[in-house]
Amino acid sequence: MSKLKVLRAIIMGPPGSGKGTISTRIIKDFKMRHLSSGDLLRSHIVNETSLGLKAKEYIDKGKFVPDETMTDLILNELGQLPKDQSWLLDGFPRTLPQAEALYKSQPVDVVVDLNVPFKVIIERIEGRWTHAPSGRIYHNIFHRPKIEPVKIKTEKDDQATSNDTETPPPPLPNLELDTENDTPVNAAIIKSEQSREVPDHSPEKRRKKSSAFSELFGEGKDDITGEDLIQREDDKPETVKKRLEEYQNLTKPVLEFYRNHGLLAQFTGKYSNEIWPEVHKYLSTKMEPQQYTHYG
Ligand code: ATP
Repeated sequence: MSKLKVLRAIIMGPPGSGKGTISTRIIKDFKMRHLSSGDLLRSHIVNETSLGLKAKEYIDKGKFVPDETMTDLILNELGQLPKDQSWLLDGFPRTLPQAEALYKSQPVDVVVDLNVPFKVIIERIEGRWTHAPSGRIYHNIFHRPKIEPVKIKTEKDDQATSNDTETPPPPLPNLELDTENDTPVNAAIIKSEQSREVPDHSPEKRRKKSSAFSELFGEGKDDITGEDLIQREDDKPETVKKRLEEYQNLTKPVLEFYRNHGLLAQFTGKYSNEIWPEVHKYLSTKMEPQQYTHYG
């Protein structure tokens, strides 16, 4: 089968799935144009276009922008691209009417869906701590603040005996956090496994302990200012679960639509570095890549 000269793709995945990271890698290796609905909307809002002003009303209320407005925006952007330009759509379509409208006016070759288990996403997001004034982000497994969090006295402590309390592990050196979307990547795991000296402090074990750890320790301090770190409302487990459920309910019909059209390619995994080679291999069967960048 001869390969495509132009690839028109969509990327889907729940918040925290590493969609930003995988998108960046795809557009780099396949020389595609990245069209993010959120970025396009923000640019319209900054430029105070009529579409931007209208969209802002919805976004400020935490609502979705109406399908018609979104479809106009995206189809207009796609229409302006040169015919030989490959593209990757991110954040659109999010509803069935959007998917149907796109299908009618633009051919789509493949839909990449990142299927990261919700349990993994929740664990990942709930471990995040933010220094609100600067926006610096830490993670209680992957990017611990230098100053150890302060121990909080809990009921559990009162009942604790010498064998049911745990000493916190020392901070891991040189851990990397994927700053694109705060997704921990394999690099962090590999690196830390090479550098650790005490086997009990493996990232795997820490991950398992992370919930107990948040319960036992305070919010920690920012490395630079020494100020308190907070857990953002968005990063709280209840909020994350709600967002994931909303995402699932909304996108289910969209995924079904693309599955029925034989366009859906699902990739399951925990980390971006685990998923990435598979995505690259799959897309390479559709269009010749310019290169393969290895990560981790
Ligand atoms: P994520 O959690 O995946 O980062 P988000 O919703 O927080 O997504 P963006 O994708 O950047 O962030 O979108 C920002 C806002 O723009 C959305 O919350 C929504 O109000 C609006 N929006 C973006 N894409 C669409 C779309 N396809 N349909 C309707 N509204 C959209």
